Amino acid sequence: MSGKNPDLRNCVNIISVGRDSFPVLDKLYGSFCLAISIKFFAGSSMTHTGETLRVGLRIDVDTFSGTRFGVPALLETLKRNNIKASFFFSVGPDNMGRHLWRLLRPAFLKKMLRSNAASLYGWDILLRGTLWPGPKIGEKLGYVIRAAAAAEHEIGLHAWDHHAWQSRLDRMNGQAVDQHIRQGFDCLTKIIAASPVCSAAPSWKCSDLVLDKKEQFPFQYNSDCRGTGIFYPMVNGRQLSQPQIPATLPTYDEVIGTGGITHDTYNDYILSLLGPGKLNILTIHAEVEGMALNSLFERFLETARSRGIAFHPLGSFLNDSMPIEPGRIVPEEIPGREGWVGVQAPLSR
Ligand SMILES: [Zn+2]
Repeated sequence: MSGKNPDLRNCVNIISVGRDSFPVLDKLYGSFCLAISIKFFAGSSMTHTGETLRVGLRIDVDTFSGTRFGVPALLETLKRNNIKASFFFSVGPDNMGRHLWRLLRPAFLKKMLRSNAASLYGWDILLRGTLWPGPKIGEKLGYVIRAAAAAEHEIGLHAWDHHAWQSRLDRMNGQAVDQHIRQGFDCLTKIIAASPVCSAAPSWKCSDLVLDKKEQFPFQYNSDCRGTGIFYPMVNGRQLSQPQIPATLPTYDEVIGTGGITHDTYNDYILSLLGPGKLNILTIHAEVEGMALNSLFERFLETARSRGIAFHPLGSFLNDSMPIEPGRIVPEEIPGREGWVGVQAPLSR
């Protein structure tokens, strides 16, 4: 099977390079991501308008592997393209193996299963990363985070334990939420010898309780939801002081394989969603665009640059002269993503 199937051949290759020191999850994650990167971007069709488009580039870092391999690759990519972005780091234990299957679109997972991935790896390998506590990312990979800070990217907190947040936030009380943020904040502060200036809730899972707790930290803004424009959240009738900069564009895993969007047309699709006069905030993942899809992402940046599109850290959008209206964050399901996410909503809704 693997001899005929290029996806599986590459899976075999990544296993065979002998990354002995990597956790099994690293191999598995990288292998799946590599398997979806066989085809590369082939062109674009967006009309050049002559206007300068500004895009906020948000880089979520969820895992040990993404920090170790994806972040350095992205730092190089961004350096080559002279771009400053916002990195949101997870710094506590990497328990994302428990979430591995849900990181992939069900359609792709079915394809992998059809491709006999289970017999290739064995179920023990596929499940092993879920059976013991993961390594603490910040303890081992602080040097990577410091490299991002040294390169003058904006540094924000994503999570202490990404998996715990996205799977258990609904059951966390105020003390647990506060402890989670504080552990991450303290760890990241120690690593970069400065307070992180912003935060982004894992998987856009954010509630009024979370917003209320975040006010106790010196974040200049938070990016906890999906939406269309910068706003000040209202919680219990009070307008909070920390603005929200929502992600406005879909992620790769949310749209690939839907609506005729393929790996080859993905860059064109995202470019087609950008527009002047609106907030363009793109989220990428160190585990995806920094690893298996790094070439695809670099082509995206090159094409965007050829059209005069400029990329910036999210915080730079706070300097825009547009008035910041109040709003709310409500839980909603969105296409391509399992479970609810926080979504920007008007006050009146
Ligand atoms: Zn994340």
